[in-house]
Amino acid sequence: MARIGIPRALLYHRYHLLWETFFRGLEEEVMVSPPTNKGILELGVQHSLTDICLPVKLACGHVAAIASKVDYLFLPRVLSVEKDAYTCPKIVAFPDMVRLNIPGIPKILDPVIDLRKKVVSHERQLREVAETLGKSHLLKKASREALRAQSNWFEAEPEAKKEASFLFKEVGSASWRGLRIALLGHPYNLFDSFINFNLREKLASMGIEILTLKHLEPSSIEEEAACLDYPPYWTAAKELLAGARLFFRSDLVDGIVYLIAFECGPDALLKVLIDSESKKSPHVAYMSLVLDEHTGEAGVETRVEAFLDAIARRKRTSRVTVAGVR
Ligand code: SF4
Repeated sequence: MARIGIPRALLYHRYHLLWETFFRGLEEEVMVSPPTNKGILELGVQHSLTDICLPVKLACGHVAAIASKVDYLFLPRVLSVEKDAYTCPKIVAFPDMVRLNIPGIPKILDPVIDLRKKVVSHERQLREVAETLGKSHLLKKASREALRAQSNWFEAEPEAKKEASFLFKEVGSASWRGLRIALLGHPYNLFDSFINFNLREKLASMGIEILTLKHLEPSSIEEEAACLDYPPYWTAAKELLAGARLFFRSDLVDGIVYLIAFECGPDALLKVLIDSESKKSPHVAYMSLVLDEHTGEAGVETRVEAFLDAIARRKRTSRVTVAGVR
């Protein structure tokens, strides 16, 4: 049995059910790097380019943290997960960055995942991985189980549900309690508490209900994405824009917070589009937060608290008054 290392970073936060189930189906041991911490950030800064986005820096740190403990690293080269859209080039090139920047790494399993043409099945794209591990006889079953597990990503993720039913502690202003806030952002910005300074947990402890794209019907996101005049080139950006439009046009939430990684090209473009959507729906408050390794936790807290105050005041007066926060 080989030990397969998977960094808890980037698309792991979107496809962890698929990847972990697949390798368990091949009867291999899976080692996922620990949740992000300061040590992993330091490793990432040490082993990556200075001007790369924070999520990729952290991904390098996650790889460095487990590289010496595993037989293989699983770093799929995910080019595309659907027709006519791609993933970010930095994600596609991540296995090369690791090879160039991190010394002493084990063999990398980096299958190309390109699902633009449905005729190329997921199973076929992972055949080489199964062959390398000498587990071709388990490929069909492992792929089937992995795809079934992944189909539950929107519904089965416990953390999304937990927030909605959080047992509220007495923290924060009473006027914030009961507000509903949508958090938008790449899964690795939303579900990595280190990157976002525990924002989800903090909001939940204030008695605020948090919604993410996981609370929307996947089919409605797809339908909304199909209505976009100029759909973004990247799948994640397209989903986020469609989700933002659904939140803005509904009464589901009082406000939207969009978490952006500094040095992220797709987010820079998407921000312009989401800003523009926000102007069409002034009944929903909106703010964006840029995250990088130098962002101060206190600064984030202050901005979020001002945002919540503005929403609470608006709910009381039905007027918008705070500069910078609509
Ligand atoms: S989408 Fe943005 S944050 Fe994600 S890997 Fe690409 S540049 Fe980095």
